[in-house]
Amino acid sequence: MQETLKDKVNARRTFAIISHPDAGKTTMTEKLLFFGGAIRDAGTVKAKKTGKFATSDWMEIEKQRGISVTSSVMQFDFLGSRINILDTPGHQDFSEDTYRTLMAVDSAVMIVDAAKGIEAQTIKLFKVCRLRGIPIFTFINKLDRQGKEPLELMEELEEVLGIQSYAMNWPIGMGKEFLGIYDRYHHRIEQFRADGQDRFLPLNENGELAVDHSMKQTSYYTQALDDIMLLNEAGNEFDAEKVKNGEMTPVFFGSALTNFGVQTFLETYLEFAPTPQPRKTNEDVNVNPTDDEFSGFIFKIQANMNPAHRDRIAFLRIVSGKFERGMNVTLARTGKAFKLSNSTQFLADDREAVEEAVAGDIIGLHDTGNYQIGDTLTGGKKSFQYEKLPQFTPELFVKVTAKNVMKSKHFHKGILQLVQEGAIQYYKTLHTEEVILGAVGQLQFEVFEHRMKNEYNVEVRMEPIGSKIARWIENEGDVKESMSSPRSMLVRDRFDRYVFLFENEFAMRWFQDKNDSIQLYSLL
Ligand code: GDP
Repeated sequence: MQETLKDKVNARRTFAIISHPDAGKTTMTEKLLFFGGAIRDAGTVKAKKTGKFATSDWMEIEKQRGISVTSSVMQFDFLGSRINILDTPGHQDFSEDTYRTLMAVDSAVMIVDAAKGIEAQTIKLFKVCRLRGIPIFTFINKLDRQGKEPLELMEELEEVLGIQSYAMNWPIGMGKEFLGIYDRYHHRIEQFRADGQDRFLPLNENGELAVDHSMKQTSYYTQALDDIMLLNEAGNEFDAEKVKNGEMTPVFFGSALTNFGVQTFLETYLEFAPTPQPRKTNEDVNVNPTDDEFSGFIFKIQANMNPAHRDRIAFLRIVSGKFERGMNVTLARTGKAFKLSNSTQFLADDREAVEEAVAGDIIGLHDTGNYQIGDTLTGGKKSFQYEKLPQFTPELFVKVTAKNVMKSKHFHKGILQLVQEGAIQYYKTLHTEEVILGAVGQLQFEVFEHRMKNEYNVEVRMEPIGSKIARWIENEGDVKESMSSPRSMLVRDRFDRYVFLFENEFAMRWFQDKNDSIQLYSLL
């Protein structure tokens, strides 16, 4: 039987894994890919571990630091679904790319280290998911080690993140005493380190083990039953609608390293994870994924791995219809029509060209400088633009100048292009027009410096001015330049909007006390 576009789209699940570094994202991703029989992968997992892209100078930074600068895409098939995992850089120096990747997924998987609980980076990424109202699935990892009490972890989820939680399963013991998980959803116990038929043990109608088993004699089993009773009585009720709206997170316990609980997680995830979702245009019209006409938006632009070629790769999330090689598209921003010919590649293991991809999938487009972040491509007769991607408030700032003043032209050209790519944010001081760059993470500055040197042949001097609180102004007309001071510096952004860079919270409050008519706001 011919598979229709609708069948194909409905088989897609596109998600990102969010976590704090070291929680187990890479390990989890590897296990997931393994279930799918490993597949196409655009780099990170392998690159990180084996330095596969070692040939490229650009990747030096990644190699040296053992991290991935940019997110990448992996795809695998499992139980009739085609799953796209979008990787998010997991280093402390994560960037706006990490945030933007979350604009291109339909759900998120949050990995929490059972010993550490909810950590800083998880909180930031979680907030972006919450703003989008996408479903969040939680995997509490490393149960093969001693961690916090499960009830404590559930409480932390609700308190720190402010989301309702529902434990889909519950650990029986932990660390050396980890016996397995009590699977509330499938009504069974899954044994740790047990294979074959022994792995799943049935429960009776009272929710207790229905078979004879040594586990019954342990305090861990009794404790788990007590906890389950408590959850049944006092915990949240499972609500698929709330999960769908991102108001409730289903929680799974397991151990990625020992591959325990991962398959159960994946199977259950697939039952509840959303298929590709519609997206709004800037005229507030919803475009459905199963619409015949192709459309998509660019959420990330990555410099080419090969510095000899200045070209880049633009990552496009397909929102509707089907992509085919050689198809004609229109770039909404310029109205320009062109053919997505051979230059179009799916970012795959060997960079093979993609023949076909549908809504939910991500494709990599060869870019010689035509694309900008947030661009919309459409394949139909009518061109339109998807709603703007949010900008994120940077936290770190540097003053930057060219070491050689003769290079000023290249300097400005390079900055302009890198700013357009969304790698960094640009500000200038009011009269002296000094360039200040802002970023979400320190690494973005290092990448900037490296690329200015290698791609634009300009050596830059960067003078850190530390972390600042950037605030835009609702009522710009009321701003006076005399309000600027060293602790509340007034600058303009690249759209010429006023921005205050406050030294710290205290400076911001002090400013607000003095100027209560000025309405400040932050980007996301
Ligand atoms: P990432 O930084 O989030 O990608 O984390 P990794 O997947 O690289 O894992 C960080 C460290 O934790 C590595 O040493 C892993 O071997 C270890 N790790 C990951 N999952 C588990 C687990 O389930 N149990 C234990 N004991 N260690 C784990």
